[in-house]
Amino acid sequence: MAFHFEKPGGFEFKAGQFGDFTLINPSETDAEGNTRGFSFASAPYEDTLMFATRMRDTAFKRTLKTMEVGTEVSMDAPYGSFTLHNNSRIPAVFLTGGIGVTPFRSIVLQAAHDNLPHKIFLLDSNRKPEDAAFLNALMGAEVKNPSYTFVGTMTEMEKSGKKWNGETGYINEAMLEKYVGDLTLPIYYLAGPASMVTGMRKTLNEAGVDDDNIRTEEFSGY
Ligand SMILES: Cc1cc2nc3c(=O)[nH]c(=O)nc-3n(C[C@H](O)[C@H](O)[C@H](O)COP(=O)(O)OP(=O)(O)OC[C@H]3O[C@@H](n4cnc5c(N)ncnc54)[C@H](O)[C@@H]3O)c2cc1C
Repeated sequence: MAFHFEKPGGFEFKAGQFGDFTLINPSETDAEGNTRGFSFASAPYEDTLMFATRMRDTAFKRTLKTMEVGTEVSMDAPYGSFTLHNNSRIPAVFLTGGIGVTPFRSIVLQAAHDNLPHKIFLLDSNRKPEDAAFLNALMGAEVKNPSYTFVGTMTEMEKSGKKWNGETGYINEAMLEKYVGDLTLPIYYLAGPASMVTGMRKTLNEAGVDDDNIRTEEFSGY
């Protein structure tokens, strides 16, 4: 579920950064408290701020889900250095799945908007197209940015009612090589729940990628 907010005057952030969001006087709370960190899924050039989250049955998210349009929240931001490197001769490879895609929506849309020359590959793994957040926007950005390649892969197409012409199965060395070529050149960015980030790092290490070239954003709390 995505949540959209008016951008406070003068507020600036870099694509890939996150904010801590606090509910003000919520009707219920629990041991985890009233604050969660969320990556900005909106790009800096967009007029509003947006985050997207996997809905679960926690006090924070029950409140979020039923909040009336116009409700204020408190935001402490921006934080983080999960931002695109400056050297445009080095390709960027984004590996993610599920809700981990949020910071990449921001980075990919901003790169297209700014006509950045970086070669960018986004490998996004989901069970089925119905579950894939921002799928149309992430695919559509290819039209605006010839340096950007979107590779969606679905791991449970047998449970889908949609057509899918893209990749299937988990991201592995063969899939990476097919699109990226020489795997030693890029800087890799991994984002998502900790177990997913750990798994993707293992895949990269087994493919011979040095940890020096891997940057991560772990979504703690899953
Ligand atoms: C830098 C950063 C960026 C982030 N960006 C995003 C983002 O863009 N989108 C996003 O969705 N999240 C993001 N997160 C994670 C987010 O901050 C929350 O931790 C997450 O959404 C979980 O919140 P919750 O209210 O569902 O669970 P909490 O109430 O925080 O649950 C805490 C713990 O309770 C347990 N738990 C609670 N409910 C369940 C359940 N239904 N099933 C299993 N275990 C459960 C888990 O063990 C969990 O560790 C980010 C985190 C960080 C640090």
